[in-house]
Amino acid sequence: MKITEQIEKAKKTLFSFEILPPLKGENIKNLFNHIDPLMEFKPPFIDVTYHREEYVYKNRGNGLLERKSIRKRPGTVGICAAIKNRYEVEAVPHIICGGFNKEETENALIDLDFLGIQNVLVLQGDAIKTEPMFVPEPEGHKYASELLGQVKDLNNGIYLDEELLNASPTDFCIGVAGYPEKHYTAPNMKNDLKYLKMKVDMGADYIVTQMFFDNSKYFEFVDNCRNEGINVPIIPGLKPLTSKRQISVLPRFFHIDIPEALADAIESCKDNAQAKEIGVEWTIQQSKELMAKGAPVLHYYSMGKSDPVYSIAKALF
Ligand SMILES: Cc1cc2nc3c(=O)[nH]c(=O)nc-3n(C[C@H](O)[C@H](O)[C@H](O)COP(=O)(O)OP(=O)(O)OC[C@H]3O[C@@H](n4cnc5c(N)ncnc54)[C@H](O)[C@@H]3O)c2cc1C
Repeated sequence: MKITEQIEKAKKTLFSFEILPPLKGENIKNLFNHIDPLMEFKPPFIDVTYHREEYVYKNRGNGLLERKSIRKRPGTVGICAAIKNRYEVEAVPHIICGGFNKEETENALIDLDFLGIQNVLVLQGDAIKTEPMFVPEPEGHKYASELLGQVKDLNNGIYLDEELLNASPTDFCIGVAGYPEKHYTAPNMKNDLKYLKMKVDMGADYIVTQMFFDNSKYFEFVDNCRNEGINVPIIPGLKPLTSKRQISVLPRFFHIDIPEALADAIESCKDNAQAKEIGVEWTIQQSKELMAKGAPVLHYYSMGKSDPVYSIAKALF
């Protein structure tokens, strides 16, 4: 079922979460061990991230370094199929511009359609770790809106080969990303919202937000979106802090603020176990307020660890 249909028919706030494909070489059973306990809270969908290639440098032993391109976390499509098969819930693959030309994207979408995947989250994707900015693939897309245009075309039966006659349309429900604290490359919030609106006007069905730790940022973002005429569901993304170092790491990677009260509390913890307790409690309080104010879904970034999300869900769902 489409995410938007699930939201429409739900009588209360839904629970969902995002998982990462395992590192290459790891067994999928580890991932199932992580998902299994969370199924108690009946998530109608689970997101699966996509991780592009990165460059590693191997010492060739003669003083020279060899640059190699590797994908450390392949398997997004396979994991989506495995989730559907094992849990009978929707799996939402993240589809990114980076690393794909348009034909590869089309073929991936055809695979997903054949597998019965009905929802996709369409994104620009992260820059390659060793590159300062996102660089589009030759014959690929630069912005999520362009990739969204390709998915919409396919939904209308328009494939890259214009000579294909009577091509079968797909029917993907399309999610896009939104940033309550602004995307890091946007010159200002207004400009960022202009491009978010472009994605919605082009046919995005719902928005999932970047993580935030201060609910007022989400509420303000939703108000700003509604004022701009963005009227699709806006799903808040939440991440429980689980270690002391995350108060520095998360702002650097995700360009988000940690509120003073939370940062101070985590800083004064004697160890990571205590930091996790505080992080979980903070997310529970955030979740309660978001639920009370009618958030359609609470979407948790598990980052490979189910126990903090389990504790939160147990307290709420
Ligand atoms: C919920 C969520 C899930 C994510 N999952 C993944 C994942 O699985 N894999 C991964 O690699 N990354 C993932 N990311 C990270 C995301 O891909 C990066 O944050 C990326 O830098 C931006 O993606 P986007 O889709 O928001 O980009 P876009 O919508 O393309 O926007 C990128 C920037 O360009 C601006 N912009 C947009 N369109 C235009 C235009 N036409 N002209 C000029 N400027 C424009 C926007 O304002 C913004 O500043 C995720 C992010 C979120 C919030």
